[in-house]
Amino acid sequence: MKMKKYLPPIILLAVFETVAIVLWLMKNNIFYLFNFSYIGLSIALGLFLYIRKYKYARRIVQLLVGLYMLIYLGLICGENMQLEGFWYYLFTGVFEAATIHYAVAKIFGPLIFGRGWCGYACWTAMVLDFLPYKTPSGPRKKLGWMRYVMFAISLAFVAALFLAHVGNIEKIMFVAFIAGNVLYYASGIVLAFVMKDNRAFCKYLCPITVFLKPMSYFALIRVKCDKSKCVNCGKCRKVCPMDVGVTDNSRKRKNGTECILCLECKKNCPKDAL
Ligand code: SF4
Ligand code: SF4
Ligand code: SF4
Repeated sequence: MKMKKYLPPIILLAVFETVAIVLWLMKNNIFYLFNFSYIGLSIALGLFLYIRKYKYARRIVQLLVGLYMLIYLGLICGENMQLEGFWYYLFTGVFEAATIHYAVAKIFGPLIFGRGWCGYACWTAMVLDFLPYKTPSGPRKKLGWMRYVMFAISLAFVAALFLAHVGNIEKIMFVAFIAGNVLYYASGIVLAFVMKDNRAFCKYLCPITVFLKPMSYFALIRVKCDKSKCVNCGKCRKVCPMDVGVTDNSRKRKNGTECILCLECKKNCPKDAL
């Protein structure tokens, strides 16, 4: 019976292994077996540590997956996993690297695990979460429109490279990966300090949320509130880094598509209602 609580990490690992094996055989490339096994093992380990009530479980997953993607896939293998890389592979018609990554983590995956990517794997947030403003100090600003501008700029940039038949696009994409990351980190850190909110970049500027938000609206895995236990103390809303109205169980709850499944609300609920 005691082992039953470890079923979620085992199921999750099985799902990732299935994806790993299917892609390995489909693409005849052993890299996919290694890649998805590593990510599945990292997330399963985090879940295991969370069940064991280890305080830094989420941060460990974030570092294991985030550093792997940024340093190994991005810098060593030269794969542009940013939005520009997704457009690039999409325009070349190749279902590889960034297109697979986006399909699994950011487009279809969120139908199951919502914005789990943002809480456990994103290498931008991996750094932002080290900053001192873990919970927002003021109300959310109406600046969400900026993400659409960023999204349009990213698409226009890659489309322009293709339309102008620029040579050596692979090299340009690698430089764009470095420049894009420097820009994300710099703007993310500045925004966090100006707005006193570590996740300000995620809330207002990140263009990937254009995919993540609508898909996570339908997420299977969501934090829900047991109304019979809740005493409306408001602690969950106070500790939430994304301003989610988590006590409302409807899909239309306030900032519902912003939940990154960090479980800070659950950890802090005095009545175990979440
Ligand atoms: S919103 Fe963007 S920057 Fe923030 S965690 Fe998600 S993908 Fe990363
Ligand atoms: S912290 Fe728990 S008890 Fe308090 S409002 Fe949230 S769900 Fe209800
Ligand atoms: S604190 Fe709760 S509601 Fe807020 S983002 Fe984390 S899991 Fe979601």
